[in-house]
Amino acid sequence: MTVHLESPTSAEQMGFLDLEGISITYGDKTAVRDIDLRIGENEFVSIIGPSGCGKSTLLHVLAGLKSPATGQITYRANDVTADVGKRLRTGYVFQDHRLLPWRTVRRNIEIAMHSAGIPKTEWDSQIERYLSLLQVREHVDTWPMKLSGGQRQRVSIARALAVRPDLVLMDEPFSGLDEVTGRTIRVELDRMRLTSATPTLFVTHSIREALFLSDRILVLSRGPATVLKEITIDLPRPRAYGDPLLVRLEEELVTEVLEVWEPAAETQQ
Ligand code: ADP
Ligand code: MG
Repeated sequence: MTVHLESPTSAEQMGFLDLEGISITYGDKTAVRDIDLRIGENEFVSIIGPSGCGKSTLLHVLAGLKSPATGQITYRANDVTADVGKRLRTGYVFQDHRLLPWRTVRRNIEIAMHSAGIPKTEWDSQIERYLSLLQVREHVDTWPMKLSGGQRQRVSIARALAVRPDLVLMDEPFSGLDEVTGRTIRVELDRMRLTSATPTLFVTHSIREALFLSDRILVLSRGPATVLKEITIDLPRPRAYGDPLLVRLEEELVTEVLEVWEPAAETQQ
């Protein structure tokens, strides 16, 4: 069991998705500046950073919802910068569940699979598989509004996985849930990676959550975001939420990033 604290340039994983020199702008405003990011096959990578530093913006680019101003996105050795939305299939989990309230759980997932081009003959088995994994199988014919917040988010994760994504994008998926519910689902996500390790880019502002779930963490600066630090967590799964090593790493990281995330620290320089 080893944990490496490394500099941003030291990730030597075989990238299947590479972002190089990505900058993202809104008009005159730069939201993300010159980011390099490599996601390995089957890797769970977290991005942590303060509010407004450009985390969601980065996910929008990978989902093809926004074009980068500069830089290159390479997917399986092909330059997909111009049409990443078409070349990379993503399953997106947002902070809010974004289920259609007037459609059943089944229908919500079917609509996503239809858009992704999953053959109709596979819909039932995909729904069965992912609702079972997320432990909401019995709610397949329920309306989303009848479910608890945690159940809705489970369905939302099942929907993201059911489209057979090349990459799962998760944007603070547990920050709208109470701590106990959020932790239960995180523990299940960790267990699920033992059998199915879809590459995942996970955004959070919870350092503990990132440490618990990730193979690697990128710590971003205040906006416009650059990568401050990269941490590889080579802990076997399943992991324990209270693992003393994770607790210690959390303490160290909180102390370290506080100096660069806190606006007050900057004005004192
Ligand atoms: P994060 O997800 O890290 O909190 P965002 O990616 O949402 O940050 O936003 C990064 C920066 O870009 C912020 O300064 C935000 O105000 C700005 N921004 C986000 N969306 C837009 C938009 N549609 N138009 C203009 N500025 C935006
Ligand atoms: Mg955001």
